[in-house]
Amino acid sequence: MSINRRNFINLSSLGIAGFSLQGFVNKQNLPTLKPIVIATWDAGLNANKGAWEVLSKGGSALDAVEKGVMVTEDEISCCVGLGANPDRDGHVTLDASIMDHEFNCGSVAFLERIKHPISVARRVMEKTPHVMLVGEGAQQFAVSEGFTLESGNLSESADKSYKQWLKKSTYKPVINVERKTSTSQLEDKFKAPARLSNGEWNHDTIGMVALDANGNLSGSCTTSGAGFKLRGRVGDSPIIGAGLYVDNEVGAVVATGQGEDVIRVAGASAVVELMRQGKSPQDACRLVVEKVRRIKKEKAADIQVCFIALNKNGEHGSYALHKGFNYAVQTNDGSKLIESPFSV
Ligand code: ASP
Repeated sequence: MSINRRNFINLSSLGIAGFSLQGFVNKQNLPTLKPIVIATWDAGLNANKGAWEVLSKGGSALDAVEKGVMVTEDEISCCVGLGANPDRDGHVTLDASIMDHEFNCGSVAFLERIKHPISVARRVMEKTPHVMLVGEGAQQFAVSEGFTLESGNLSESADKSYKQWLKKSTYKPVINVERKTSTSQLEDKFKAPARLSNGEWNHDTIGMVALDANGNLSGSCTTSGAGFKLRGRVGDSPIIGAGLYVDNEVGAVVATGQGEDVIRVAGASAVVELMRQGKSPQDACRLVVEKVRRIKKEKAADIQVCFIALNKNGEHGSYALHKGFNYAVQTNDGSKLIESPFSV
C-alpha cells in the first residue's frame, strides 16, 4: 500500500521523518518502518551488521537476532561469550534467551564451555518441549546437538582480570562498564573501560530486537552476566519476561544492567504491557525504570538498569536509570548510535 501525504505528516510529527517509509499502513494508521534492528550498547553496532545481513535480504527477524548477537559472542569482550570475565570460582558461565513472533521462546543459563549460547537457546525453543535448560543439562543438550565443547580456559584478558580481582575479591558494581567508547557528554565517573583493570564486579550484555520485512518481531539476549558473580548466579537475560519479551501484536523489549533488579519488576514484560496501553517505547521504558528507582530508593545510585524497546510500527526508544547507556539502530537509512535518556 502506498504511503499517502496524511500518513507522512503523522510520521513527521513523531519526529522520525528521516527514515525510509516502507511497507504497509497498520491498524493505527501509522506507516511501519521496517526492517529495523536495535541492540544494546556500542557492541550493538557490530551485532546489528550481522543482523542486517539477514534482514536486508528479506530474512526473518528470528534469524537476524540470532546471527546478530553471535557476532558479539565471537568477540572478546568483558562479559559476552567465552572470552568474558569468569565467576568467582574462575569459570565462565553464560546465559542467553531468544523469542519469536509466535510466543515461542528458549533459553539457557549457567552454561559452560559452549561458544554460542544463543544458538543453544534457539535449539531449546525449536527442538524441546521446554523453555529453559540450565548448567550441566544445558551443556549435555548442546553437545548432543553437535555444539563443540570448548576448553574452558579463560581468555588472556579475562585471566588477567580474574587474577587482579582475586587480590581483593570484592563485589562492587560498576555501572556502564559495557560502554566501549567515551563521549564528551559523559562525566568522568561514567567513563568506564570495557574491562576493569582492577577486576571489579561488572556487567555486560548484548540484547537485540528486530522487526522484519514481513512485520514480525523477535528478540535475543546473551551475556556472561556479572563478572566475578557467585557460582550459579543467573541474571535476567535468560528469564523470559524479565530480560527479554516479544509480543508480536505490540512490541519487543530487551534489558541490560543489574539483572536482579530487572527480574524484580518483570522488566521486559512490564515494558511491553505499557506499550500495549498506548505508551511510546521510550515512555514505557521510562515508567519501568522509574519503578526500579522507587523500589531501590538510595540504592538506585549503585546500579544501572536500561531497556530498549521496538514497537510494531518500527518506532524505538530506550530509558536508563543512569547516564551513559547507548543503543545502536540499523535501518535502510544506515546505522547509528543513540544516547539513551536517563533518570538520574
Ligand atoms: N543483565 C545482565 C545480568 O544481570 C548483565 C548486564 O546486562 O549488564 O546478568
